[in-house]
Amino acid sequence: MKKLIRVGHGFDAHRLVEGQVLVLGGVEIPHHQGLHGHSDADVLIHAICDALLGASALGDIGTLFPDTDDRNRNRNSREFLVEVYRLLQSHAMEIVNVDVTLVAQEPTLAPFVATMRSKLPSDLELDQSSGNVHANTSDGRGFTCGGGGLGVNAVVIV
Ligand code: MG
Repeated sequence: MKKLIRVGHGFDAHRLVEGQVLVLGGVEIPHHQGLHGHSDADVLIHAICDALLGASALGDIGTLFPDTDDRNRNRNSREFLVEVYRLLQSHAMEIVNVDVTLVAQEPTLAPFVATMRSKLPSDLELDQSSGNVHANTSDGRGFTCGGGGLGVNAVVIV
């Protein structure tokens, strides 16, 4: 196969609700709300999965892990990430780097970014310098206004 560099972009957003644990990048964030979703609603991992599937043109997370499938209920999203990574490997694709931007008005995510970043390489067999996570607000505007939700953009090169 011709060696190509391919870029993938993934976006995901979930709303914050009471009575859920907030998990981002496999890290539990202490907050009075968590993300609504069928799985553990780890929006950071969902965005990375979609970026990887986009770069490889192998579908999308909703098709691979549908919310109509009971096996995916409350499922740890890191399992999705590992499955997506294996799928890329089976197509002889190697991940060059992953860059993730979290957009949240609240909670303040900056104190947890380093821990989230440290977890990425183990799931994707990257070296520490090839996975990055950063957090931003939307300046009180848009979907994350008032802490109503949380969005993530992910970009990958494979
Ligand atoms: Mg999602």
